[in-house]
Amino acid sequence: MKTNVLILVSALIARTAAIAATPDAPPPAVISFESQVTNPAGSQAPGDQYVFFGANAKPDEQEGDNPAMNLVNLRDFSVSAPIPDRGRLIPANPKSPECARVMAPGGASVTTGILWSHWGKDNDYADLATFRIVNPAVTSFAIWVLDSTLKLASNCNAAVAFRVNGGAPVAAHPTVQTASSNEFTKFTVTGASISDVFTVVVRNSSKGSFRSLAGLTFSVIPNPAMAGKKFPSICQEGWNDLNKNGRKDGYEDPAQPVEKRVENLLKQMTQEEKLGQLNQLVLGGESERDPDLFPLMRRGEVGSYIWGRGVPAIRNQFQRIAVQESRLGIPIVFGMDIIHGASTLFPASLGLSCSFDPGLFERAQTVAARETRAEGVEWVFAPMCDLARDPRWGRVVETCGEDPYLSSLCNAAQVKGFQGSNPAAPDRVAACLKHYVGYSAVTGGRDYNDAEITEWTLRNAHLPSFHAAVQAGALTIMSSFNSIGEIPAVADRHTLTEILRDEWKFGGFVVSDWSAVEYLIEWGYAKDKADAARLAINAGNDMDMRSEAYANLAKEVREGRVSQTTVDEAVRRVLRVKFQLGLFERPYVDELSYKSAQKQPQDLALARECVTKSAVLLKNTGILPLSQELKKVALIGPVGDDHREILGCWGGRCSWSETTLAKALKDALPKDATLTVVKGCSINTTPSMKTLQDGRIVPDDNALPIDVDLKLDDAVLAAKNSDVVIMAVGEPKGLTGENGSRAFLTLTGRQQALFDAVAATGKPVVTLVFSGRPLTLPEVWDKSAAVFYAWQPGSEAGNGLADLLVGKVAPSARLSMSVPRNVGQVPLFYNHVNTGRPRSGQYRDMTSTDAKFWFGYGLTYTTFEYSAVRIVPAANGKPAEAAVTISNTGKREGDEVPQLYIGQLVCHAGARPRQELRGFKHVKLQPGEKAAVSFPLTGEVLGYIDCAGNTRVDAGEYNIWIAPSAHQGTPMKFEFVR
Ligand code: BGC
Repeated sequence: MKTNVLILVSALIARTAAIAATPDAPPPAVISFESQVTNPAGSQAPGDQYVFFGANAKPDEQEGDNPAMNLVNLRDFSVSAPIPDRGRLIPANPKSPECARVMAPGGASVTTGILWSHWGKDNDYADLATFRIVNPAVTSFAIWVLDSTLKLASNCNAAVAFRVNGGAPVAAHPTVQTASSNEFTKFTVTGASISDVFTVVVRNSSKGSFRSLAGLTFSVIPNPAMAGKKFPSICQEGWNDLNKNGRKDGYEDPAQPVEKRVENLLKQMTQEEKLGQLNQLVLGGESERDPDLFPLMRRGEVGSYIWGRGVPAIRNQFQRIAVQESRLGIPIVFGMDIIHGASTLFPASLGLSCSFDPGLFERAQTVAARETRAEGVEWVFAPMCDLARDPRWGRVVETCGEDPYLSSLCNAAQVKGFQGSNPAAPDRVAACLKHYVGYSAVTGGRDYNDAEITEWTLRNAHLPSFHAAVQAGALTIMSSFNSIGEIPAVADRHTLTEILRDEWKFGGFVVSDWSAVEYLIEWGYAKDKADAARLAINAGNDMDMRSEAYANLAKEVREGRVSQTTVDEAVRRVLRVKFQLGLFERPYVDELSYKSAQKQPQDLALARECVTKSAVLLKNTGILPLSQELKKVALIGPVGDDHREILGCWGGRCSWSETTLAKALKDALPKDATLTVVKGCSINTTPSMKTLQDGRIVPDDNALPIDVDLKLDDAVLAAKNSDVVIMAVGEPKGLTGENGSRAFLTLTGRQQALFDAVAATGKPVVTLVFSGRPLTLPEVWDKSAAVFYAWQPGSEAGNGLADLLVGKVAPSARLSMSVPRNVGQVPLFYNHVNTGRPRSGQYRDMTSTDAKFWFGYGLTYTTFEYSAVRIVPAANGKPAEAAVTISNTGKREGDEVPQLYIGQLVCHAGARPRQELRGFKHVKLQPGEKAAVSFPLTGEVLGYIDCAGNTRVDAGEYNIWIAPSAHQGTPMKFEFVR
């Protein structure tokens, strides 16, 4: 193979070297190739190879070309070799780290040779090189493909073809004419757009393999329409001439303060350009609708895209239209739902918040920010600051639990992780707090519904987490789908302006949720899109996601229903964030290096740590950690060897996990132990459903009927032949997240039957529950020897859970959401009010009115004892303190999470919850070791927010607990005196 390569390369060099450079040589041209082909670690078919090299050349004179053609400056093109998974780059200069860059030494045209080798199937084809124009002046050009060296295996008949914008390979196309001679295939492209992607393809039309060495030579054909038109480069020394006027305007000057740049730009904008900045569209990158969007972008009427694709080259291409082809060159901000990771998936937030470790959130989102920004997405729609009070609502999985205090800390930490201290940095993104506000209180847990929330509950339960994240510097907020009372949130001036702007002084912008502006019509709150746009912007909703309703605001302003000041202020807010993100200086991302920012080994190690700190041990009769003496382990249940469910409801860029629990467990168990893996049944429910991209849940035609799927005999046999059974059961991720409400909080499909049959064998069962919400599983709680609540753990689910099961790591997680006994109890949360008859008004048909497990609950592999709470009075300017002594009474080292709860006995502003979390700590203790743990009892700890938004602390009596969970321990009375 190596010899062949050399022969072919030498042949092409010999051919091209004979052609002289023109005397007036343009500056060196650069062709950039996607770095992924430089990565020898990329997956390759055996024997496939690429060779790139550069040389001066011009097309074969014999070809009889149009002499009017300008031979090209290759800076007008960007070329990539796009089948990373099949090719390997052999650098022209192996010593050069820039191996993917081919410098043309100043010739009038450049030929680059690509050896490509492929063992194809019938009618297979492979992309040889993909390129696009990067200079808007170039609309017509020719490309010669030297195909004389196309080598075919016997029976193979291959030819060069062309693809436009990802279409099928064709010999002819409306914008591409093909002419083949002996040695060249020439493609003449006319009327190309900067947004078009062209691909030279080798096509195999019969059996066998082919190898090709093709030299690509580009040449620009002058376009009469463009004659004399100047397209100056926007790139200047240290700034970008975005409006292409040859001068450094205020908004283009990075040395100016952001506010000045915003004002300077605003002054230059037309009304349409202003409204364009408030318009967010959805783009797949290759959807049929995309080309319709280009004219809008050229007119500067798209401010942002929801960017579903992870290909920076395509993202850059769209950005080029906005920056290079629009009048003012305002960059687009690309946003995306990166919720619990991009390439590296961490546990979904409800799970990760069980770590009671906000720092872990910050670290995880720092990784997500780096992976995301590298791909060209600089804005993530996270964190979710909603409260998890009703497990029927599918989106509780995206929250940080039911408690406002814990949720505030976790969400503020996520903002720091995403944005860092400088959101313009190449590894940071803007955060977007969602969904503002009250979304989690939807009636009956039914998604998108109305919510009845009093001002008191809004202020003290639903708003604190948003406020904390605003104070942490969040740049954007998303208004929510629900209504509060009679007013849909996207049009609610009280929350969007009076609270967010006037009280909290939030300086970023508010984006609506998906089409929420337009949905005002369905709500029966607006009569048409214009009315909806007016209501939303007047309420304080700055950007319209997807409805394309805000273009109507031009008329609304002309006719006096919306003020110009309102529009200008919304535009200012959007521009401000774009400046803060550094988009005006760096509108493009590096297409060469984005892969190296993804899934680094330390990221996976962090993801594994997060799994071990998220899974809550709810029960353990002593079977865990698994004994090293175990010889036979059965792993039963649909999640045991699953590659997808474990990843969670927002998969980021990842839909497949290499490591499954089965694989990880096999590695973690003693060498001589056997692991028998039985799926037993499907995780799906009847009828089997799947969730579409747009959130719709539809019947899955490919799924087996549930009953056919149940394999009880195999499972029972495996259980009987084992020393211990690990059951991996739960609910499908498709029944969680958006539009994932459930009426029954049970195991789905036939998993309960599977569990019952396995448990009936009498073997000890360790159950792992994979779920996006607390489920009500009485048999599991009763019949299992141990239970871990694993949530949706992400990429490192298998390894992290195996670490816990074998005791390599001791569990330390605590429930961030209470687990009810029965769905009839919900909404059920620990911080409810006392009521006038606290011991009455309970269900008459349930033996216990308590949750099965309250917020804060979680076990580890040792035990702890708490002393009574001591109150240390305030003295010498130091606040009073509550303290306990905690002892490790077990046989292993362990991490305990003592929690401080307060309850104000009398509050004239309004009745407060009987318990509210106001502090927690992590305490690591060796067996027999004791530690004193204390919390200050400051105003901040004891206070609340009144209905006018003031923070207040009342003098008077409080109950104080320091306990291992809510609803545990005996309170101590404390009198707060001013
Ligand atoms: C969801 C948001 C999400 C948005 C953009 C909406 O349907 O409610 O959470 O950020 O879509 O994908």
